[in-house]
Amino acid sequence: MEQGTDQNRAAVELRKGLYLVPGHNPSPMTGAGTNTYLLGERSPVLIDTGAGNPSYLAALQACLQRYALGPLRAILLTHGHPDHVGSCDLLRQHFPQVTIYKMPLTGRAEHFRSPFSPLQEGDRIQGDGFTLQVMYTPGHARDHLCYYLPEERLLFSGDLIAGTGTVVISPEGGGLSAYLHSLERLLQLDIASIYPAHGPVITRPQEKIRAYIAHRQMREAQVLAALTQGATTVSSIVRRIYTDLSPSLYRIAERSILSHLLKLEEEGRVVRAGEEFRLV
Ligand SMILES: [Zn+2]
Repeated sequence: MEQGTDQNRAAVELRKGLYLVPGHNPSPMTGAGTNTYLLGERSPVLIDTGAGNPSYLAALQACLQRYALGPLRAILLTHGHPDHVGSCDLLRQHFPQVTIYKMPLTGRAEHFRSPFSPLQEGDRIQGDGFTLQVMYTPGHARDHLCYYLPEERLLFSGDLIAGTGTVVISPEGGGLSAYLHSLERLLQLDIASIYPAHGPVITRPQEKIRAYIAHRQMREAQVLAALTQGATTVSSIVRRIYTDLSPSLYRIAERSILSHLLKLEEEGRVVRAGEEFRLV
């Protein structure tokens, strides 16, 4: 679908009681924009909110009306990045009864300024006819949650897994070890479909999760090979591995390679001296 039409897309019913409301925020970082999901009929909850575009609010209101849904009861945030929390203030103005839920950021300043109720691993959100299980899944962000709906075997994955491509892992987000651990946990779940915050629905979850893990393992092997061949700095490793990288993606590639090096350092396989890394 081309981005111009995508931006103005209306909500769609994915299955009974589950609606995709596009975030109306296409950009190079978000692709076609953030997917937000309305779950439930009599007192629906919204998972993520987009970036704050007024046309998003209109699309959400049109969805509530078109499918004769009850008043919005709660907003569940997967994490605090701007393309997920950006419409919270706007939504609170229009739905003053709504409660916003999020995992608090610990150990660093909370960027999300709106009042919210804290969530943590193991919490359950009771809706009309469903119960969502809260899973703490750091790696992309330190405050990242996935929401699992066991009755329907659905997972709302936020930015842990995307419908297309891979996701950005950085030391600030919790690091690669934490990310891989989060993915391994998903392999233990019985999941039929994954609803990501970016890209299309994932209908072969196990395959996708395994492909994500394999991708990081492949990258780690490349980093180890570059170190063996004498590369010592992040930028020299990036140049060896990504031979055809567009300059706009260079910073992201550097963050990714640094995440790999920090994981190897944690595991005692690499030592760091200033900007240089060496195999043990
Ligand atoms: Zn994010």
